[in-house]
Amino acid sequence: MNFEWVENEVKEVGPGVWIRVAIDNISWADLGNGGVVIDALEDIEQADVVRALLKETTGQDLKWIVTTHWDVDHIACNPQWKREGAIDIAHESCAQSAGDWEGRPDMTFNDQGILRGAGDRRIEMKWMGGTHTPWDTVLYFPHAKVLHIADLFGWGLIPCQPTPEKVTRLKQVLSEVLNYDADAVICGHGPVTNLECIQRFLTYFDDLLETVPPLVERGLSLDEIEAKVLPPADMNAWWRFTAWKHKKNIELISTHYKPTPVGT
Ligand SMILES: [Zn+2]
Repeated sequence: MNFEWVENEVKEVGPGVWIRVAIDNISWADLGNGGVVIDALEDIEQADVVRALLKETTGQDLKWIVTTHWDVDHIACNPQWKREGAIDIAHESCAQSAGDWEGRPDMTFNDQGILRGAGDRRIEMKWMGGTHTPWDTVLYFPHAKVLHIADLFGWGLIPCQPTPEKVTRLKQVLSEVLNYDADAVICGHGPVTNLECIQRFLTYFDDLLETVPPLVERGLSLDEIEAKVLPPADMNAWWRFTAWKHKKNIELISTHYKPTPVGT
């Protein structure tokens, strides 16, 4: 698989599932009986552009919006698309956060939901919140073997403040993600990835959790820790990983990961 980042590249990730790759990705799919957009970006100017891309690539009109989480960079086009007749579907926690905002979800689910298209086309939605945000939902397109995990994978960046509780939850959630039968994995930002990369992130994450806290304990500065804990060579090509994410991860673990000492 090619992990090169080509800004604004539009491509079909699996049958009928499309993405426009950018810093903020947008993806959409042809469900046979209508078009669905996943998330809604941060820039309302994109509402017409994305609607046109959906039509051009799939021939479908926009019928649904499925929201992975309620961060501002994922929901901006909701009001316009809803005014134009689209139905927004999201986890019930998103509706609680949306209040009476015009872009709020129209339909919600708790834990799991299925958006059925024509034939075998569908999106299986599963809530896996509690790390990046309280809302995180994973979407699976079984007919296309495509998984959308939004911001749960950040190309090496730990997607939350790694407190011991969140570390446990993140490992649980990403392990669950590995159980899907997926050839391609869409994330919220950057190139399309795959399950091997998520597996690799988990081993990298474990390594950091093991190596960084003892160095913090010994009183080393962040710079000194960085000099000792180098980014793994096989992850050097990961999107923006060596530029700042590895360094940021060390800082995040130093700040938030305070495991209870054994014997207390
Ligand atoms: Zn995001």
